[in-house]
Amino acid sequence: MGTTFAGENIEKLSPVAALDVILNKTAGQSACVTCSFQAEDMIVLDLLRKRIPSIPVLFLETGYHFRQTYEYRDRIAKEWSLNLVNLVPQRTVAEQEAEFGILYRTDPTKCCQLRKVEPLFQALEPYELWFTGLRREQSPTRKNLMKMEQHRLPSGKSLLKVSLLADWTWGQVWEYTTQNELSHLPQYDQGYLSIGCEPCTAIPDDPNNPRSGRWGGTKLECGIHTFSERRP
Ligand code: SF4
Repeated sequence: MGTTFAGENIEKLSPVAALDVILNKTAGQSACVTCSFQAEDMIVLDLLRKRIPSIPVLFLETGYHFRQTYEYRDRIAKEWSLNLVNLVPQRTVAEQEAEFGILYRTDPTKCCQLRKVEPLFQALEPYELWFTGLRREQSPTRKNLMKMEQHRLPSGKSLLKVSLLADWTWGQVWEYTTQNELSHLPQYDQGYLSIGCEPCTAIPDDPNNPRSGRWGGTKLECGIHTFSERRP
């Protein structure tokens, strides 16, 4: 499929135009969006909720988020009447810590695998379209991101992964947020630039590398965007 869809090169289209082409071409197919309620996710949600108001909004409920994130998630879910789906891991935080100790300190890869990756790839199984708020600028690991990618889940199931903001800068994100009067997670006002689980999120030393504040700089990805296989 590449980046051409319905005769249009999706990579060259604005997020709104790309979204309309994709939804038109995939009418009737099941879609979901993953959302951690960061600024990019809010924009993608804002675009999607006007077109598919009941779209499932998949939130990785790791049990380790900031209190402000939970409060913000619940407020937006109510204000926007979201079809919020909290994806919970097999073990509660207490069960995991009793069995393995504090994994985010000793083995964050395993912690992310148990609390994010496994719940997500199971939750994605019923869908044909997976929307995300990913951008190339966010991390060196995302520099080759395309707006539209075909992915294969560990089960073999294929789905279309759509990142409408792939080519946007942080400035464009903030411009849309301001112009459209979207609210934002309060942690941004404290200097955080990439916001995930509280124990693994810090204010980055280098503002040009926003994800350098995640996992103490020891890794850049939790695995939810690397577990599936990107297909040509
Ligand atoms: S980001 Fe940290 S706390 Fe959250 S699942 Fe990964 S290792 Fe665990």
